[in-house]
Amino acid sequence: MGRIIAIANQKGGVGKTTTAINLSACLAEKNKKVLTLDIDPQGNTTRGLGIDKTKLKNTTYELLLGTRSLEETVMVNIYDNLSLIPANVELAGAEVELIGLKENSFIMKKLLNSIVTEYDFIIIDCPPSLSILTVNALTAADTVLVPIQCEFFALEGLSQLMHTINLVKKRLNPDLEIEGVVFTMYDARTNLSIQVVEEVKKELRRTNIYQTIIPRNVRLGEAPSYGLPINLYDSNSKGAESYRLLADEVIERRV
Ligand code: ADP
Ligand code: MG
Repeated sequence: MGRIIAIANQKGGVGKTTTAINLSACLAEKNKKVLTLDIDPQGNTTRGLGIDKTKLKNTTYELLLGTRSLEETVMVNIYDNLSLIPANVELAGAEVELIGLKENSFIMKKLLNSIVTEYDFIIIDCPPSLSILTVNALTAADTVLVPIQCEFFALEGLSQLMHTINLVKKRLNPDLEIEGVVFTMYDARTNLSIQVVEEVKKELRRTNIYQTIIPRNVRLGEAPSYGLPINLYDSNSKGAESYRLLADEVIERRV
């Protein structure tokens, strides 16, 4: 039975998409069967995995609204062991359309239920909001992985995110667990990065925090423009090394 991991943080630019792409790719590299689900209308995960998002007809949008099936939307093995349900800007409209539907928090859960046994991991890249799309992901997920950027406002919004996770747990998905918190864009040369890690650790004492810290790495920033995950773009980079270590930790953790 696969584990469904939602990568969520309502702040933009904290490394959700970078983590979704590269954690997925590093899990796949370790022979895990992975399905990556892009549910951000920006479609950055789709683009970062090398898919031209402008031409797509079968995306998360059609899937959630029921006009396309899973068979039609899953792009099978775009890389070895890695399949993708892509997204593009059309998904922005889904927010409004989903509001009118019955049991609209459970749509993704019902869809994924039917394929979860086919994968080791299903990784969902959430949009930077706590919208109905994110709620669908948290309702479908076994766990939520929270990237936290090592910068001054790191703690801002964290309590709101934890509050939302708790609400979803209470009302929609009692089994939801926090997979862990991963620090991103860490710069060992700055006191700020070190301070942020210390502060967040203090604040989230009972939460799993990954040993692996993702450094700020130029190659990680460049890879998406080539449509490649970091392990294929620059296999020996610090970025690739760190996402491989994160993948190991995710594999080891049994929830
Ligand atoms: P989110 O999905 O949370 O909005 P992204 O993953 O898109 O965040 O990251 C925001 C920007 O920072 C992107 O341009 C991305 O390429 C860059 N970035 C993310 N993580 C790193 C990193 N560890 N090192 C360097 N650049 C990074
Ligand atoms: Mg993103």
